[in-house]
Amino acid sequence: MPGSGEVYCVIGGSGFLGRRIVEALLARGDRVSVLDIVDRYNNSDVHFYAGDIRNETFLQDALRKSGATCIIHTASPPHGLKDTALYRKVNVDGTKAVIAAAIAVGVTKLVYTSSVAVSVNSRAFIDADLRRAFHAYNKLKEQAEDIVMAANGRKGLCTVALQPAEITGPGASQALDSQVEGIAKLFQEGKVHYKIGNVNCATVSDVAHDHLCAADTLVPLSKEQDYETDPALPLSMAE
Ligand code: NAD
Repeated sequence: MPGSGEVYCVIGGSGFLGRRIVEALLARGDRVSVLDIVDRYNNSDVHFYAGDIRNETFLQDALRKSGATCIIHTASPPHGLKDTALYRKVNVDGTKAVIAAAIAVGVTKLVYTSSVAVSVNSRAFIDADLRRAFHAYNKLKEQAEDIVMAANGRKGLCTVALQPAEITGPGASQALDSQVEGIAKLFQEGKVHYKIGNVNCATVSDVAHDHLCAADTLVPLSKEQDYETDPALPLSMAE
């Protein structure tokens, strides 16, 4: 297979979704590297960079060595952590570092895995107790998505954010089960004001495919096109 011509770096590529994205890219003949804090790779076709996305120097170094032209950024701490500060550190600060490193190295495409939680976090859909239960994760995924979209057009970087629903399929973590259990409990307690029974799920292979489609659809801007220097297109990276 000839591949798309891009060189991909899948951040969070050791995870449930990230691994499937890597497999899909390899299957169509693309060059792929993985950047993650956990190494689950024993594959000579995939160069692995072990490290944390909060470390911008490490990111720049890895992106430069990999020759990446397109980043697919799926990294996030899992749902339901007690240490909610980690969501800010990884999803917000880490995503800012990814964008800064991408721009410094000249990566032209960034696909970010956001979450449907960002869209359903509104009052119209969800009871206050349920919002609180998922507050830190949802809120900081939303901030990360805003940061990614605000970076679109910055120094030749093109960005897109996807909002997958619950992802199912082989290798799904127990987190999904516990989320469903958590929602069921809140439902039994009368704290959810929408009908449960038509839960929005997507298979991991479909979500991986969506990421490849998003990457293929992005058209890189020229380096001269920079929204920062065009007052008509204000860019805000502010939190
Ligand atoms: P996962 O936990 O299986 O994978 C996440 C990966 O990110 C892991 O390999 C982890 O080691 C890595 N990671 C975490 N912190 C990191 C850091 N600081 N630096 C480098 N790597 C780091 O999660 P997943 O289920 O594959 O989810 C992938 C993405 O999809 C996440 O951004 C998540 O918010 C989003 N999402 C997931 C679901 C779902 O149902 N699983 C639904 C909607 C959105």
